[in-house]
Amino acid sequence: MVESDFYIVGGGPAGIAAAYFLSQKGFKVEVFEAKKVLGKKPCGGGVPDEINKLIPLQPRSILQEVYGMEIYYEDNLIGMWETNRPIFYVIDRTIYLESLVKDLDIVVNKNSPVKISNNVFISKKGRLDPNKVIVATGVSWRLRERDMVAQTLQYVLDDVKLDNPHHMKFLFYRDLVGYAWIFPLGEKKVEVGIGSLNKSLGYMEERLREIIKRNNFNEGKVEKREGAPIDMGGLKPDWGGNGPYVVGEAIGAVMPLTGEGIRPSIITSSLLAHSIERGSDYVKTLKNSDLFKATKLQRKILEKVYKNGVSIPLEGVQLEPRTVELIYRLGMGKMDLKTLFHIARKLPSLFMGLI
Ligand SMILES: Cc1cc2nc3c(=O)[nH]c(=O)nc-3n(C[C@H](O)[C@H](O)[C@H](O)COP(=O)(O)OP(=O)(O)OC[C@H]3O[C@@H](n4cnc5c(N)ncnc54)[C@H](O)[C@@H]3O)c2cc1C
Repeated sequence: MVESDFYIVGGGPAGIAAAYFLSQKGFKVEVFEAKKVLGKKPCGGGVPDEINKLIPLQPRSILQEVYGMEIYYEDNLIGMWETNRPIFYVIDRTIYLESLVKDLDIVVNKNSPVKISNNVFISKKGRLDPNKVIVATGVSWRLRERDMVAQTLQYVLDDVKLDNPHHMKFLFYRDLVGYAWIFPLGEKKVEVGIGSLNKSLGYMEERLREIIKRNNFNEGKVEKREGAPIDMGGLKPDWGGNGPYVVGEAIGAVMPLTGEGIRPSIITSSLLAHSIERGSDYVKTLKNSDLFKATKLQRKILEKVYKNGVSIPLEGVQLEPRTVELIYRLGMGKMDLKTLFHIARKLPSLFMGLI
């Protein structure tokens, strides 16, 4: 076996991005992915335009460009924001990840689970040096130590009629710590999902069925029904290690208010590649990152709602397009004072509940 500089365990966005960045910096890397195909974990596949600053999306991985966002509360539209350029994309994760490794000198072993126990990593090619291992196994890593894990459920429906195939919709409910989403996957295909910290799968199934019916998607064909846990607890830099290193959702790289994990996972892999190249401390780099600051603040807000039972009073609220835009940016981690001040001014009851 030819020695590699790094062995990456897990071929999701974090693992493949780590392979991509390190390979570009001249390191020899090898990926071990348990499944036969990359990117098959249940996921909405939604990514903001900002992902292009990290790794540009290849056009063929884009299933749909999204130009607008609608927010619903108790099934009533309370705000909408539309633009003339794509703000968000729904991607085919497999095409996206496969194309990242295609042109680079990266060995990808599929159907190759690595047995992990107490920092011992056994691959089909033998025992891996833990100092060279990058753990990118997603939420399953140290699962029992995570304190805010949401459950999710999503349907993919084909042959449906979409009222606007370039809009995404976010639906909030009084009793739900979480939200439902509707992402277009093209002109006639849609993904309807729900994620929650406080509700059972039974509740989520029922809620999804209502949403599907309300939108007349029940006339379509169910292509997929799937779900997986998702870590809403924020980035945990101390889990980052300096061999084995840990990236992606394995280290909690998910925005707590939205569950967006693809772009944050790629950010951790980019930070790791930079740290390795410069010989700097990865854990310190994570602690100083904007991603850590943003997930920390978002976690605090989520804790208020989830642990302290603060309800989000949105009854009778109508949001201006600019407010919807800033809520979107806040969800992505843009937590600057200007954004927070605008939201505090426009939604004082929400802000007072959270401080
Ligand atoms: C229903 C749902 C919808 C979501 N929607 C979105 C969304 O729209 N946008 C967004 O940004 N995020 C979304 N997320 C979150 C996002 O999917 C994750 O945060 C993101 O995929 C994390 O990337 P990762 O590479 O760290 O982990 P993963 O994507 O989980 O990849 C880990 C990989 O490691 C492999 N693996 C695990 N153990 C081993 C092992 N021992 N040996 C070898 N391989 C192993 C797995 O097979 C998997 O391929 C969603 C999550 C869920 C559950």
